[in-house]
Amino acid sequence: MYKTPNANRKHIGIYGNTNSGKSSLMNKILNQDISLVSNVEGTTTDPVQKAMELIPFGPIVLVDTAGLEDKTELGEVRVRKSIDFLKRLDFCIYLIDGKNADINTYNNWKKEAKKYNVDHIVVVNKLDELREDEIKNIEAYFGNPIFVSAKNNTNIDKLKDILIKNLKDTEEEKPIVGDLLPYGSTVVLVVPIDSEAPKGRIILPQVQVIRDCLDHGIKTYVVRDTELKEALNDIKNIDLVITDSQAFKEVEKIIPKDMKLTSFSILLARQKGELDEFIKGTEALKKLKPNDKVLICESCTHNISHEDIGRVKIPKMLEKIAGGELDFEYKVGYDFSEDLSGYDLVIHCGACMVTRKSVLNKIEICKGNDKAITNYGMVIAYFTGILERSIEIFKGL
Ligand code: SF4
Repeated sequence: MYKTPNANRKHIGIYGNTNSGKSSLMNKILNQDISLVSNVEGTTTDPVQKAMELIPFGPIVLVDTAGLEDKTELGEVRVRKSIDFLKRLDFCIYLIDGKNADINTYNNWKKEAKKYNVDHIVVVNKLDELREDEIKNIEAYFGNPIFVSAKNNTNIDKLKDILIKNLKDTEEEKPIVGDLLPYGSTVVLVVPIDSEAPKGRIILPQVQVIRDCLDHGIKTYVVRDTELKEALNDIKNIDLVITDSQAFKEVEKIIPKDMKLTSFSILLARQKGELDEFIKGTEALKKLKPNDKVLICESCTHNISHEDIGRVKIPKMLEKIAGGELDFEYKVGYDFSEDLSGYDLVIHCGACMVTRKSVLNKIEICKGNDKAITNYGMVIAYFTGILERSIEIFKGL
């Protein structure tokens, strides 16, 4: 893997009315023709995403959305999809058509963006066609927007600079391990290679943990669970063992009682969500009873095997905890309901393929619905009776 995964990039949406020039602006920022540009209304249907390096800020994903004033037959569906995309964005550009400024649509959109805590800047396009008095009127309505001409490439660099400044103010990516241990510490990663392991590679959360350790000067040793005992003899002064959640029980038996232990899923729960909220969510496991309804959120689609964690292992554990059958429902990708009234508990996957923002929004929806949410790693740790031990490393942070 040579590219930064999209899950680790800031996501920036470009919103605005139909034909305000969103696709042209995106192409100018990217310096290439990715988004389809046309004068026909509603050319952009599903949001178009493109990863780029915004130098000197770093890796981002730009998202070109459908026009908010889409009057075509599928308009409502497209607008809903575009608004729904706000849940996973870190920042937005709201583009005004300078020749046809529409304050009402902007005000309505602003309410939605606020709901999902997404900040934005207002950019006015078609500067090349605007008279002085039109510029003044727009300024009176929209404060201090940035005027650009996507057609003539005017002020695009200025817009990028302002974007970078705003992105620097957004929440910084949290380290995975780097803030838990000092420079020079020693970590052992336990990666079981079973039928669930993908052929010829290790999975993204494990790659991300290794990279985070390297970034922070933490010495990292990777072993299978079957070689862990030997590794403990070979490696001196181990500060932390990080295991695949599914091998938690076996690993706990092998390592000394006073050795710190956690899992990849629990580390990601902290990086991609709110650890405290997920820990609180484990309290709901104690109250689980037969026939309760559990919502399981898988952030990506994948082939389902007989050992699948979300479809087989976690449901089996939850039914054992509840003492009877449960009613499971699945949401895949970014699909998530605002109304969670029918559910007794929400379980999230490790979220390795999605942004922190998208998980935080789901947590907020759960809080708003007064529903408990936790994740796979927490369920496994609770089920195997080692939750306390696996979260000890975070105490006092
Ligand atoms: S389902 Fe979740 S944890 Fe599993 S690979 Fe997809 S994003 Fe990662």
